[in-house]
Amino acid sequence: MKRVLCPKCDNYITFDETQYTEGQSLVFVCEHCKKQFSIRIGKSKLKATRKEEILDEQANKDDFGSIVVIENVFGYKQVLPLQEGDNMIGRRSKGTEVDISIETSDPSMDRRHCIINVKRNKQGQIIYTLRDNDSITGTFLMNEILGNKDRIRIEEGAIITLGATTLILRTAEK
Ligand SMILES: [Zn+2]
Repeated sequence: MKRVLCPKCDNYITFDETQYTEGQSLVFVCEHCKKQFSIRIGKSKLKATRKEEILDEQANKDDFGSIVVIENVFGYKQVLPLQEGDNMIGRRSKGTEVDISIETSDPSMDRRHCIINVKRNKQGQIIYTLRDNDSITGTFLMNEILGNKDRIRIEEGAIITLGATTLILRTAEK
C-alpha cells in the first residue's frame, strides 16, 4: 500500500499501488474534503504508509530522543524525533506549523497542544520538561492533568496523554 497527499486538505489517502502500472493516471476522491484530483503513478509522489515505515523507537537515541505515538482508532503508531529547545506538539493540520506533527484524526487533540523542552544541563545531561499549551482538553502526565503554570520534568518512559492519544517519551542515551 502507498499513500498520496490530498492537495486541498493535506490528508493522506491510502491505496494499493500494485493494482496499477507506472505511468498510469489515477483519479482520487479525498474522503476528508471530497476534492477530486489525479496523479500519475510514479515513484516521486508515493510515500510508504505509516505501517510500512520502520518504527524503531531507539532510532533517535544518539540525538535527542523520540516521542512514540501509540496506535489507536485515530491513527497509526509513529516515532517522531525531538530536537534541542522547545518542541511544539500537535495534530497535523494544513497551515499549522509545529515541530512534532502527529498524523491523527483525534478531534480532542489540539493543533498546538503541548510543548516538550529539551536541553542539556551543566553536567551534559539531557533534561526533558513538559508543559501544556493552553489546550482545550489539557495535557496529562501519568493520568494527572498539568496545571497552567506547571513545568514538569519527565523521564524515559513517561506517558503523556493528549485527548484520546497516548505518547511515550524515549530519551536519548546518556
Ligand atoms: Zn482532502
